[in-house]
Amino acid sequence: MSDVNTHPPAMRAGFVAIVGAPNAGKSTLVNAMVGSKVSIVSPKVQTTRMRVIGIAMADLPDGTRSQVVLVDTPGIFRIAKRRLERAMVAAAWQGAKDADVVALVVDAESGVGAETRAIAERLKETALPRYLILNKIDLVPRPKLLDLTAEMNAIVPFESTFMVSALQKDGVADVLAQFAAAVPPGPFLYPEDQAADLPLRLLASEVTREQVFLQLHQELPYEAAVETEQWTERPDGSVRIEQIIHVQRDGQRAIVLGKGGARIKSIGERARRELSQMLERKVHLFLHVKVSERWAEDRAHYQTIGLDYDGKA
Ligand code: GDP
Ligand code: MG
Repeated sequence: MSDVNTHPPAMRAGFVAIVGAPNAGKSTLVNAMVGSKVSIVSPKVQTTRMRVIGIAMADLPDGTRSQVVLVDTPGIFRIAKRRLERAMVAAAWQGAKDADVVALVVDAESGVGAETRAIAERLKETALPRYLILNKIDLVPRPKLLDLTAEMNAIVPFESTFMVSALQKDGVADVLAQFAAAVPPGPFLYPEDQAADLPLRLLASEVTREQVFLQLHQELPYEAAVETEQWTERPDGSVRIEQIIHVQRDGQRAIVLGKGGARIKSIGERARRELSQMLERKVHLFLHVKVSERWAEDRAHYQTIGLDYDGKA
């Protein structure tokens, strides 16, 4: 005879795309849901054109454990004028379609601006469950919230509307509970402890590795490995990151360094800019190039921490 209580709990996991105009409070909301000040990402996700900005765990009332992977799709909704930009926006939108749920965050104080309206219009195209999150309710009288709800739902109907103050964490648990129930049944997509800072180190390594690849892929016959060796939070809120780019031979070291160190400087500048954007704070990045034959081959290093070296799903 089986006893229900001895079964492992059921699992759910999925992606929730968080969209909204700049300043709506997306980052604040994600941080409030994740419960720590981290944003994380792994190579798997970049291949689906989504950027993981947080992972939240929640238990449903029936005991189901749910992993909510919060993603954003950078640049989706900017008004794209040039052809290349339009192509990029289209690609990002495709990424949002890969999510399981989409949530639109609106700054209730500033109301429905042109950008929010454009996003809502665009959401008509999706078959995903849509949720509306009116944020900053600490600043807004209730009647205005009801008007706003009606105005937004007239543009596109939402499954439900939440009224929250991300800053004061008011109503945030309800939103998370809804996401947790809305993502599909299935195994977790990430190791449970991903909200620690090891993934941040990995993220930092990935950003630099991507720059090495983008800037040198024709000259380096393989992908260099990047290791984040030091991660130091500084009192002024900035972070100091030291990384080693592992290559296999002296000749490759020279390629990565470039003439007079120009190439590594350029790699470092781009990576630093991107990291500082992702982490939303100042980043001091120091890169060293090291010839280490074995390390570059050591895929086991990646596998032990649950990542696919090749970035394949
Ligand atoms: P994002 O651009 O959508 O990621 O917005 P942010 O999360 O960076 O927030 C933009 C600004 O709004 C920041 O100054 C936040 O502190 C502020 N903010 C976010 N949520 C709230 C809220 O619930 N109430 C108030 N009063 N301010 C908020
Ligand atoms: Mg933000």
